[in-house]
Amino acid sequence: MDCIFCKIVNGDIPAKKVYEDEHVIAFHDINPIAPVHVLTIPKKHIASLLEIQPEDKELIGHLHLSLQKVAAELGVEESGFRVITNTGAHGQQTVFHIHYHLIGGRQLEWKM
Ligand code: 5GP
Ligand code: ZN
Repeated sequence: MDCIFCKIVNGDIPAKKVYEDEHVIAFHDINPIAPVHVLTIPKKHIASLLEIQPEDKELIGHLHLSLQKVAAELGVEESGFRVITNTGAHGQQTVFHIHYHLIGGRQLEWKM
């Protein structure tokens, strides 16, 4: 399977990691839109939010707890941040391995 994020998981292409455990990995986005922009992904290939299966419930819960650690590691716990999972065409998903953008480090706005 030709998945760029699976290649990051496997170490086939480099990434600036900020957190890793048995099930998830977090790394800086290659094209950041804010001072803090990190992607957190499950090591398991799941194409999108729509592909999450009932047996992935624990994994996705674990990933959310990992986001707390990523936020702490990046020093944005106090200031706040945003987590986004783009899904499908209108969501402008471009990489089809589910990922959670954690964005912060400045005041964010909410307009599309
Ligand atoms: P999406 O548009 O699918 O929600 O987000 C994909 C994100 O992956 C984009 O923000 C893009 O900059 C990032 N990205 C794409 N390829 C790479 C890569 O090879 N390395 C890293 N670190 N980020 C990538
Ligand atoms: Zn993948």
